[in-house]
Parts: sequence; C-alpha cells; structure tokens
Amino acid sequence: MNGGIEAKNLSLVQRSMMKCTFCGFCKSVCPTFEQVGWDPAVARGRIILSYGLLHGDIPADDSVIETLYQCTTCKDCERRCPSNINVVDIVELARKDLVASGHMLPRHRKVVDRIMEGGNPYGESRGVPEVLEREPRPSRLGYFVGCTAAYRNPSTARATVSILDKLGEDFTIVNENCCGSVLQRIGCNDDDVRGLMQSNIDAIMAQGVKEVLFSCAGCYRMFKEEYPRFVDVPFEVRHVSEYLAERGLKLNAVEGRIITYHDPCHLGRHVGVYQEPRQVLRSIPGAELREMSGFAETSHCCGGGGGMRSAYPELSESIAAKRVDEAAFADLLVTTCPFCVNNLQKGKERTKCSVEIIDLVELVDSLLE
Ligand code: SF4
Ligand code: SF4
Repeated sequence: MNGGIEAKNLSLVQRSMMKCTFCGFCKSVCPTFEQVGWDPAVARGRIILSYGLLHGDIPADDSVIETLYQCTTCKDCERRCPSNINVVDIVELARKDLVASGHMLPRHRKVVDRIMEGGNPYGESRGVPEVLEREPRPSRLGYFVGCTAAYRNPSTARATVSILDKLGEDFTIVNENCCGSVLQRIGCNDDDVRGLMQSNIDAIMAQGVKEVLFSCAGCYRMFKEEYPRFVDVPFEVRHVSEYLAERGLKLNAVEGRIITYHDPCHLGRHVGVYQEPRQVLRSIPGAELREMSGFAETSHCCGGGGGMRSAYPELSESIAAKRVDEAAFADLLVTTCPFCVNNLQKGKERTKCSVEIIDLVELVDSLLE
C-alpha cells in the first residue's frame, strides 16, 4: 500500500513496464498526445506513471488519474513499440488499481451505476429496445444489438434487422445486457465484469442460439477476445461485416461516389478484422474505395474508446475532428461501429468537412433490394 494505492494489478506487469527504453516511437501515433502535447500523455509517460504508482514514488493525484484515463486504448502505440510492450494492458491494470483504491472518476461512476442498475450505460430502462419492434425468441441465429445501437443509434439496429430480413434469415434479437466493455475499460473489478458476461451467455443459451452477429465493434471484441478469458462461450461469434462479406451481396450502384473506411480500433487492431468491411464496400458498383492517410493497421483512432467519450468529451471530439478531416476528400466516411459513428459525428460538428458519416449496415441496407 502506498499513497492510497494498493497496486496489486500493476505488480503483475512490472517486468513489462521495465522493458520501456523511452525511445519515444509511441509519440508519433498517440491520438491523445497529439492533442494534449505533453509527455505524460503518451504510452511511455503512462508507463512511467504506472511504475511510479506501483512503487509509491508518486501519489494518485488528479493529474496522474487524468493522464491514465486519457488513453483511448486504441493500441496504436503497441504497433510502433520495438519492445513489444502491451501498453493497453498496463493502462487498464493501472485503472483497476485506481478504482480498487477508490479513485473512480465521477463521470465513470455514473455510467457504472447505470449499467449495474439498468443493464446499459445510458440510463434507459432495462429490457428489449422498442425501436426493434420484436421480442427475443428461440432461434439458431442471434443478433446482439449492443447498448449504443439499441438506445442511441437505432438506425444501425434497424438496418441490421432489415438486412437480415431481406436475406431471409430466421433470426432473433438477443435478450441482452451491456456486454461489459465499459466496465472493463474503466477498470471495474473482474466479478462485476464476469457477472455481466455470464448473464449474456445464459440469455443466449436459453434462446438456443448457435451463432451471434454483432454490429458493434466493441461488443464483438468483448465476445471474441475477452469473454473466453472469463466464461465459456459455447457458440460462434461474428461481426456483421464478416457475415456480409461472406454473403457476396448484389448491391445497387452509387455512381461516382468516393468512399473511405474508418477501422474501429476494437475491430481492427484489437481483433484483426480489416478486409471484410472493405470487401463489402468494393462490391458496390460505381463506388471507389479510397483509403485515408491512416488505414487498416495504421488507422487513426476516432477518440471515443477507453472511457474517453464519457470522461473527457472535449478531448474525444477534438481527436474525432482530426479523423473526420482526414476523410475530407471522400463523399462517404463509412465505419462499422455505432460508437465510432457517434463520435465521428461529434467531431464533424467541429470541422467544415462535408463528408457524410454512415455505418456500413445502413449503407448496405440502402443498396440492398
Ligand atoms: S515505443 Fe515502447 S519502448 Fe519506446 S518509449 Fe514507447 S512504450 Fe517505451
Ligand atoms: S493506446 Fe492509443 S491513446 Fe493509449 S497510449 Fe497507446 S496510442 Fe495513446
């Protein structure tokens, strides 16, 4: 115990932190550093602060807490790091120690309370979102809507349902709770995260679902990567872009339109799904897919992830504005995560850029008979 912090979790990654040579390669890619402009707000800075917390060299004061929560967990620094340090793991373990020591940010506390009470971070009443106008039922194929599409971007949920209907799929929506991503990114304890995971697994199993589709990159990453670390996942999970690519759809033409694609960090760098959304976009007759300066593995973050959107909306929007500006040459900026769509929309309000921001499923639904 030191300075109010019991750094049990950080002690697990002490060796990893010691691999940092302070070379600074991570500086060239960090979206927060680009906006904040001082060294603590970059991977090596966050590692030094975490190391200091572990050894009681620095107190968990407001500036340290702020810096550790101003990471979008985009993982781009890991791509550049010659020492192969798992920076996101270190940041998230530091957050776990901060939360366990009573240092949860007030804005995060509100979100966590809403999830634990109502099953979603938006304070909406628990239950099936009315926008979908259908009830969960037994079926082989399930659609996990996710809280953002259910309560903030219903157009994404409706488009996904519409596509599945047009393709003649017999499917059900899942009787779901929050996937737990928010709790995990913020640093909540494993028991609370596991509880949400198990409730979703139980609900999906009770419906007899053998394959689950996701239109949210964050929810998908949770089921694909994080759930198996905590609970048994006895069904297949797929992002909707993988499903659409496999179907080989016949889409209507959009003559002469330039499309660019934003890789959600959760889908791209975290899970490695880069080609499928592009495959779908390339199949649109008359459209030209043109990449931004950062794309696929080198994609630039939208600024919304890792709890940034709720805790530091100003910073989150300025990162998003930069990303939208990078798409200024295009008619359409397509992504495949409602949370990215929302944040990019917020960023667009700060720019003069006229690019239209749209989720992949909405574009596909509009071009599918
Ligand atoms: S790139 Fe890796 S080794 Fe270099 S300063 Fe950043 S975290 Fe440390
Ligand atoms: S994960 Fe992203 S935001 Fe966090 S330190 Fe690395 S590059 Fe910066």
